[in-house]
Amino acid sequence: MEKVKCLIVGGGPAGFTAAIYASRASLSPVLYEGMEPGGQLTTTTVVENFPGYPEGVDGVQMMDDLRRQAVRLGADVRSGIITKADLSQRPFRFTLDGGGEIEAEAVILATGASARYLGLPSETKYRGMGVSACATCDGFFYRRKDVAVVGGGDTACEEASYLASLCNKVYMIVRKPFMRASQAMQERVAATPNIEVLYEYNTVEVLGDEDGVTGALVQHADGSQRTLAIDGFFLAIGHHPNTELFAGQIELDAEGYIKTVPGMSHTSVEGVFAAGDVCDTRYRQAITAAASGCKAAVDCERFLHSK
Ligand code: NDP
Repeated sequence: MEKVKCLIVGGGPAGFTAAIYASRASLSPVLYEGMEPGGQLTTTTVVENFPGYPEGVDGVQMMDDLRRQAVRLGADVRSGIITKADLSQRPFRFTLDGGGEIEAEAVILATGASARYLGLPSETKYRGMGVSACATCDGFFYRRKDVAVVGGGDTACEEASYLASLCNKVYMIVRKPFMRASQAMQERVAATPNIEVLYEYNTVEVLGDEDGVTGALVQHADGSQRTLAIDGFFLAIGHHPNTELFAGQIELDAEGYIKTVPGMSHTSVEGVFAAGDVCDTRYRQAITAAASGCKAAVDCERFLHSK
């Protein structure tokens, strides 16, 4: 069985930053990128708030740069998925999607978070046929068409603004009488003439035919319903942490995020560290994920050297 000192699970800003630091600390890290190589940043457009990029940077480009930086410094970056984790004793043992196994003296969990869906059967039925949780990935298919975005957070505003640049009309379906998004994002939406915000509306059903989505039935808080004629239905209602593999083995909070020692990356299991959105319910930014990846690598190095 392959044995490594430091295994990093997840290839987003947290995982790659951990890999950069762990490589420079001579831990010879092995990183598995998982199901969504590059993480959530690959589903965004331009990242304007990462320090050091005065003109902004494309999310996919940024992740590619991070990956190349990690590799140049010696990280072994692999495109594979960990399907099973045994954290009950050190060295920790992991099973890969191809069936192989790997043992690690220490592990950094940076598996991030995934998009949430409403849970409607009709939404599941039309997933990939007009229902999407990634405007950047799929917006292209709806050029000059009408679409809806569900959610009132920063992501929803960002996706609606992006779609408005491609589509004829964008409805935002917001369940409360106000948005949770930052003032700047809300102002951007308000200044975009082809976005119509529907406050206090919930989606009852996604409508469609054999070719995909044709509409959405939405209901106002007062009980009145209306049908939106749309071709694309985009979800932007937040994320859930990718911690299923570790459930029951390390402490998670009520929403399933990994609990860490405040200000550090230590988890409830010695030798297991966490970084990025998988343990961050508050900030969830690329820069905070990267910073926590750095902390995890430093904590991991100190742990390994203390053994
Ligand atoms: P948020 O959790 O901030 O917002 C989720 C939105 O979806 C809320 O409006 C919420 O409504 C709504 N929602 C949740 N469940 C449902 C449901 N079942 N039906 C209808 N609506 C629902 O998630 P985001 O992904 O927007 O943002 C996550 C974090 O990332 C935030 O901290 C955000 O600031 C940050 N971010 C920053 C960006 C930037 O700075 N460029 C860009 C994108 C995200 P309600 O308010 O009623 O709960």
